[in-house]
Amino acid sequence: MKNIIIFGAPGSGKGTYSAELVSKYGLGHISTGDVLRGEIKAGSELGKIAKGYIDNGQLIPDALMIDILAATYDKCSGCQGVIFDGFPRTIAQAEALKAMLTERGHDMGVMIELVVPEDVLMARLLNRAVEQGRADDNEETIKKRFEVYNNQTAPLSAWFEKEGIRRVFRWEEHPSKDEMVKAICDSLDA
Ligand code: ATP
Ligand code: MG
Repeated sequence: MKNIIIFGAPGSGKGTYSAELVSKYGLGHISTGDVLRGEIKAGSELGKIAKGYIDNGQLIPDALMIDILAATYDKCSGCQGVIFDGFPRTIAQAEALKAMLTERGHDMGVMIELVVPEDVLMARLLNRAVEQGRADDNEETIKKRFEVYNNQTAPLSAWFEKEGIRRVFRWEEHPSKDEMVKAICDSLDA
């Protein structure tokens, strides 16, 4: 198993770079945001619960999220490895991910952190709002998501650093998509 965790603020490009890595390395892709939006679209019980949190820019409670993640991961058992996109978002989720993988004889692999200034993120998300019409891509909810990210998710960066698997990529150094993809792939191939 060659797992990759892709980490960064809302709009940092987790989904965009995941797609590139999936096609280059033949990995499975677990986007927890996509899983939740699928549940909302299907009108499931889980979707109804998730919608309340997502529309407010809040995180879905850890216990629920951890169950969803484990069930989704076990569906990828035939994969060479998986990209975790949007998970973990809290220290509790990170601890649970590590435990879940250890139980299965797997490991977290590499963590890729995308660092992008907040004004660039805001511009991208407002642009995505026009293109994709996601309910949580409006200025007020985006600001809440940034706050939640800074308070609950950003501290995970140091957690991954302690695990010794964190690699940081800064938008300032790789401002185009192609440059960023190249930098990430060079690092993974080295
Ligand atoms: P990006 O633009 O980089 O792809 P994003 O932060 O805009 O990322 P998603 O990852 O799609 O968006 O997540 C959308 C919402 O789904 C979050 O704001 C949150 O409410 C919920 N969510 C997704 N993953 C998790 C998680 N691991 N824990 C709790 N809530 C989650
Ligand atoms: Mg996403």
